[in-house]
Amino acid sequence: MRKVTVIGSINMDLTVTTKHVPDKGETVLGDTFATFPGGKGANQAVAAARLGADVSMIGAVGADSFGEDLLSHLSKEGINIRGVNTIPNESTGTATIIIHDGDNRIIVAPGANHHLTPFHIERNEALISRSDVLLVQMEIPIETIKAVSMLSDKYNIPLIVNPAPYQKLPQAVLKQATYLTPNQSEARLMQADDAWIDQKMITTLGSQGVELSATGEVIHGYPVQALDTTGAGDTFNGALSAKLSEGADVKEAIRFANAASALSVQKIGAQSGMPTLEEVKRFRQ
Ligand code: ADP
Repeated sequence: MRKVTVIGSINMDLTVTTKHVPDKGETVLGDTFATFPGGKGANQAVAAARLGADVSMIGAVGADSFGEDLLSHLSKEGINIRGVNTIPNESTGTATIIIHDGDNRIIVAPGANHHLTPFHIERNEALISRSDVLLVQMEIPIETIKAVSMLSDKYNIPLIVNPAPYQKLPQAVLKQATYLTPNQSEARLMQADDAWIDQKMITTLGSQGVELSATGEVIHGYPVQALDTTGAGDTFNGALSAKLSEGADVKEAIRFANAASALSVQKIGAQSGMPTLEEVKRFRQ
């Protein structure tokens, strides 16, 4: 038990802070620049790995220095990267984040993430077949998510679908998903699309915690002083999958994931705030 396979995006986040946002045709001098590993897939893989799961990642990077850096970063987090493909003549996915006056302006260039195809999923069938939980988000092509859901069906492996950023999911994926984990705005879009399946919904409610639709109950979050909620959802999904992979029941997995994400919002950055298993244990005592 405890084998989690994450199929998803791998990005380099490029953040620049500036006092002025340039107008069309204008060049301004900014203040600071920094790069951070990101992408929902990689973030969720790191969250699960720090919490003690045996994590494998299936994804794609470009043949460039960002790709090399991100692969070595994932390895250092103890994640098996044999399922990560390097796509020739493509750039690694990036998110360019302009931070001005406390607000973010973000441009995502998916690059290699959009070249993760059903072929790459089939090539990793053996790895997938040995998993205890499969976890996907929506920063990779829909056909690829469909291919994952077919293998989840073939090998009877629980499939967690984090519908973020929201896109309409194929019926086959909705049917095969064990749990869907939207946040509140994604949940509204799912309802509008008639994609709501009570038995499967785990809706995250920010500081309020989580609603488990199967029983109609709200499982409350932990009251903490939030400093930066970036990556709260990613920590939640990684933690939920890690706990479910141990065979825990869904309510215990949600309580554990609430604790892990409450710890993550107390630190700045997505991955930098993700706690270890020890930290979660101490926090819950
Ligand atoms: P997303 O980051 O995807 O928008 P949410 O904001 O719903 O997702 O947060 C995911 C989870 O993170 C919540 O269910 C909760 O457990 C935890 N969380 C988020 N914000 C806070 C907060 N301010 N205090 C405590 N826990 C939080």
